[in-house]
Amino acid sequence: MTLIVDAHEDIAWNVMCYGRDYTQSAQATRARDPEETVAGTGSATLGLPEWLAGKVAVIFSTVFTMPARSPIRDNLSQTYTTPEEAFTIGMRQIDIYRRLAGEDKRFRLITERPDLDAVLDTWKEGQAEQQIGLVLLMENGDPIRKPQEVERWYDEGVRLIGPAWMASRYCGGTGEPGPLTDEGVRLLKHMQELNMILDTTHMAEQAFFQAIDRYGGSIIASHSNPRAYVDGDRHLSDEMIRTLVRRDGVIGIVPFNSFLVKDWSRRRGDPKDAATISHVVRAIDRVCQIAGDALHAGLGTDLDGGFGAESTPAGIDTVADLQKVADGLREAGYTSSDIEAVMSGNWLRVLRQSLPN
Ligand SMILES: [Zn+2]
Repeated sequence: MTLIVDAHEDIAWNVMCYGRDYTQSAQATRARDPEETVAGTGSATLGLPEWLAGKVAVIFSTVFTMPARSPIRDNLSQTYTTPEEAFTIGMRQIDIYRRLAGEDKRFRLITERPDLDAVLDTWKEGQAEQQIGLVLLMENGDPIRKPQEVERWYDEGVRLIGPAWMASRYCGGTGEPGPLTDEGVRLLKHMQELNMILDTTHMAEQAFFQAIDRYGGSIIASHSNPRAYVDGDRHLSDEMIRTLVRRDGVIGIVPFNSFLVKDWSRRRGDPKDAATISHVVRAIDRVCQIAGDALHAGLGTDLDGGFGAESTPAGIDTVADLQKVADGLREAGYTSSDIEAVMSGNWLRVLRQSLPN
């Protein structure tokens, strides 16, 4: 089995909104979750035993904030209307990660390269206990009250920033098209001074191209699928993929049925098995075909990120099943080194470029 790096999981958000305890198994969480949680965000797919079983060694763990105008209405008490509120909710999530890593040695926050190497060392043969490394990724820049406050978040451990979810004060976002704002331009400047990673997922197309032109640091799309299979501004056009590849970026593919096959909807009762591992492989392969190599695709699962096991492809019940994607790539003719690149190596390359020594 190859190691896995997952470029997107909303761990703290789920702790905050649903009281999930990720030291427990996904199965235990399912048994505990009230019916309305399962009806809303879906059956849990994440948990420490499953991360360990699936060899998910490193997770880009989000500091995610939701504006009150979001169409998702089941977490109203956790949404914000002002930058100050967004700041508070974001900091609460930093605390959640700190507590997780502080209370359980099997989790470790990764803020510099030696942390990353230490986590990876625990996965080498003969090690008694493995560690899950958490790299903090801010999804939606609104908790950053002013562009120069990026430094404060960096000191708190944030190493990647996606300025948008819906539109933010920094740029247009999913469902809310628009450019990079003046504040957004300044945000990028401060991020670049700290050699942070820019996550372009959720950025509106106009803002995306402006940001790519301006940003000199590492650029990724942590959880974005090709628009070729599912239309809409949440996904990447071939031109956007090509642009990311040209900047040596990496794109994390999401094993979420409605991002893999056209017109899939849980609410309408569409079946889990309408998508399979082969659709995940198809999305990865499109990125690889455009790039001409396997150096720009990865996984950014977003598991438990507003969808659960009902909405993942057949064969993926929990995060432990991600290893089946490696099997699917093998069946599709990918070499071992290409598979390793997609499952972990490409994200590790980006992290090594960006993390301080
Ligand atoms: Zn997202």
